[in-house]
Amino acid sequence: MTRRFPRRLLAGSVALAFAWQVPCVLATTDETERDLGRRFAFEAGAQIPLVRDPEVVAYLRRIGERIVAGLGPQPFDYEFFVVRDPKVNAFAVPGGFVYVHSGLLTRVDSDDELAGVLGHEIAHVHAHHLARQQEATQWLNYAQLLGALASVVQPALGAAAMGASATAQLQYKREFEQEADYMGARYMHQAGFAPRGMLDFFHKLWQEQRLASSGAPPYLLTHPLSEERLTRLEAVLRTSQWSGATTPTPSRELRRVRLLARLRGAPAQDVLNAYQSQVKAQPQDAEARYELGVVLLESGSYDAARETFEQARALGAPGVDRDLGRTLLRLRQKEEARELLARAAESDPSDALAQLEYGRVLEEMGDSEAALAAYRRAVAAYPDLEDAQRQLGILEGRRGQRGFGFYHLGKAQVLRGEYPAALSQFEKAESELPAGPEQADVKELLPQLREYAGRR
Ligand code: ZN
Repeated sequence: MTRRFPRRLLAGSVALAFAWQVPCVLATTDETERDLGRRFAFEAGAQIPLVRDPEVVAYLRRIGERIVAGLGPQPFDYEFFVVRDPKVNAFAVPGGFVYVHSGLLTRVDSDDELAGVLGHEIAHVHAHHLARQQEATQWLNYAQLLGALASVVQPALGAAAMGASATAQLQYKREFEQEADYMGARYMHQAGFAPRGMLDFFHKLWQEQRLASSGAPPYLLTHPLSEERLTRLEAVLRTSQWSGATTPTPSRELRRVRLLARLRGAPAQDVLNAYQSQVKAQPQDAEARYELGVVLLESGSYDAARETFEQARALGAPGVDRDLGRTLLRLRQKEEARELLARAAESDPSDALAQLEYGRVLEEMGDSEAALAAYRRAVAAYPDLEDAQRQLGILEGRRGQRGFGFYHLGKAQVLRGEYPAALSQFEKAESELPAGPEQADVKELLPQLREYAGRR
């Protein structure tokens, strides 16, 4: 069946946050949705502040991909992003692009709770809810839909142009919410998560909505919650025998994700107070001590961070080498930093941040060959690490590898959303790169960057 996004224009022109050329009509729903999602994700890269910390993104992806894996072959490649915003929100853009706000991550108490949110969002995508709803209401054309999606994911962006009414068009109707609850719970169960996590998290939001004077969390504007919906979800869990309890305490990984998500969304001083109180309340808790060290490091209090990391290590906290090494590098204690970072980089080659920081200390000590290798490992482990792409670009350029130099500098600019600058780097890289994955990447990105430049 062919389904199309309605193309009827509203009377009068609406200034959009996203300026799109409405594409020609595409043949299938999947194709239309994929195109919409890709365009959205590309534009969002320039306009929506994203959290790129490898640990945060890896955690979200791991849970999301585990759910998707249970669905079998899919028409879309699902991609997961973290928006830097302290509010509780999440939204799926058709075509498999799922956005979770850092504020939501700070409120999650178990993997199951996050899996609940992701299962629900993936269900909306899987069932084409937004496309079906748009088809029924005929309210937004393709370009307007993109603008409205932008205003949902980042209200400051589109609010002035689109108004609250456009956002309201993206509020899922009641039967779609119930369907996403049911399907999402089933996906969770298939992937080995406790579906109860979805209900627990929605209960938490429901309580908050009733108590909050400042209005409901943004998540509830697009995914309206009612007592009836919660009751139905509870009944689904009961009849499917999915009522089993979730993991009671957050894993160490989730605790670290919550900490970084908090740091990206709130002033460091507010976060510092909370983690200092936590250490005061539990002075023997190694993990609490380690977390305080991270907050101190992130807020630039390097002496205090070093002391705290050393205490955490003495209490038995695992994985302190890397962050103590990062701290010592900033305190200019290079020899000690190199030793710790070498150990961290060797013990976990997939730890992109350890590779990056190891590369930094090697570069500062004059070993640019070894630094280059470390930056390459960082980029291989996590291509979205902007600093690693930039440092790699600088070193490649310095050793005369101009094509690779332009390419990696361009990648860093893409990650910063600086598309015009990236375009000029990629145009230079194109003619100098040998055939290989980098050249293929340039060939894929250039048309998008040129189209973007043409619209500005
Ligand atoms: Zn929903």
